Amino acid sequence: MNNPKKTALINDNICALSTAPGQAAIALIRISGKDAINIGKQILQANGKAIEERKSHSCFHAEIIDQEGKVLDDVLVSLFRNPKSYTGEDMLEIGCHGSPYIQQKLMELLIDKGCRTARAGEFTQRAFMNGKFDLSQAEAVNDLINSNSKASHDLALDQMRGGFSDKINNLRQQMIDFASLIELELDFSEEDVEFADRHKFDALLKEIHKEISYLLSSFRLGNVMKHGVPVAIVGKPNVGKSTLLNALLNEEKAIVSDIPGTTRDAIEDTIIIDDVAFRFIDTAGLRDSDDTIESIGIERTYEKIRQASIVLYLFDVSKTSYEEIQEVLEDFRDHIEDQSKDFIIIANKTDRLSETPKAFGDLVDMETIFISAKRKQNISLICESLVNAYRNKHKPTDVIISNSRHYEALSRSLESVENIMSAFEQQIPTDLIAIDIREALHQLGSITGEITTDDLLGNIFGRFCIGK
Ligand code: GDP
Repeated sequence: MNNPKKTALINDNICALSTAPGQAAIALIRISGKDAINIGKQILQANGKAIEERKSHSCFHAEIIDQEGKVLDDVLVSLFRNPKSYTGEDMLEIGCHGSPYIQQKLMELLIDKGCRTARAGEFTQRAFMNGKFDLSQAEAVNDLINSNSKASHDLALDQMRGGFSDKINNLRQQMIDFASLIELELDFSEEDVEFADRHKFDALLKEIHKEISYLLSSFRLGNVMKHGVPVAIVGKPNVGKSTLLNALLNEEKAIVSDIPGTTRDAIEDTIIIDDVAFRFIDTAGLRDSDDTIESIGIERTYEKIRQASIVLYLFDVSKTSYEEIQEVLEDFRDHIEDQSKDFIIIANKTDRLSETPKAFGDLVDMETIFISAKRKQNISLICESLVNAYRNKHKPTDVIISNSRHYEALSRSLESVENIMSAFEQQIPTDLIAIDIREALHQLGSITGEITTDDLLGNIFGRFCIGK
């Protein structure tokens, strides 16, 4: 949070509807900029104190007066004075009645009085420019708005509060310490003195390497927490895969909402069990009745398994031999690199069995779950199994990265650190290492926004909703 104050390049007056568009009980319109209070004064009529005399963080009742001098609405206004506001500028938040007509008229009035419509993420961008938080924290604001499970919410909240930034700033500081040790050596290089202790260099580099690698390895977990655990349902045609998918989606209420930036399909095929989101991948085929291992091609099944973190392998228990199940599972394992992938074996159509299957003992040994997807029997056992598989693999760690931009920057800085390490081993002159040091510092700085470009900012804030 203690980012040096950056100069805001723009401080004209912006306004936007911050609540979702459409009809609602109430709507919130925000104004930020150097004349926010003055603009408010021109359209708001309140009893008691004049607006400009009111304290920061005060809330008052007012009427909105339109261009013809008529009352448009009764509203509640929150006033924030710079620098203690979200953007760091003077701000007003007007809570009006949520009719699209009122929202529209109020926006028109504000524009009439000198505001312009805010661009996507512009309030947060101003907050960043005014040093309210760093870039990774600003990105977390968007993640928080888009979070749809406890895991993704926890992750975003921690990042927004600066847990991740602290880690990156520490790394950057370590790198700066390293750079100054090297510089000492450079200063004395003409006298041919090896000033600093090489062991000290090595130890510092190893520590930096370890921490960056650790952060990089957390990316997988971060992704899973943010987007849901990818799950694949595979098996021969007609074993009941789509029936099972529907049973699962009905059992655990599927989350269906209009989260910006998320495709409808992705949301429709996500279930939340015990606060963990599970996302069924490539289910388009399952919806069309002709999806079969043959028709989609066995390669695509392997691909689906590769993408998944957990695989539900389904077979028709009334028709499948134990040998066939073993063969299929072996074949799957032969075609994927990641042998730690979880396979949950599911025997479907138990309602068709008139007697215990011959291989019952062997199937139990494989921890097979016996279900009837059609009758929705034992579906909860699959849910339990999914959660157990997730928890066994993903032990909580302190800092987790979930953003591919951060992943990329960290990967590049690791590359530079590795270059420096090998340069040391090969006794390459210290001044040649400077390029890699600078690159590592640049990459780490780009995560928190110490170093930014307009393109980068446009890219990040353009993904926000308007009004945030
Ligand atoms: P998919 O091709 O693997 O997606 O299989 P479907 O879900 O389309 O199911 C194929 C057929 O098996 C359909 O007629 C389902 O009603 C039926 N089916 C699915 N689950 C069960 C079950 O548990 N018991 C019985 N008896 N039939 C089932």
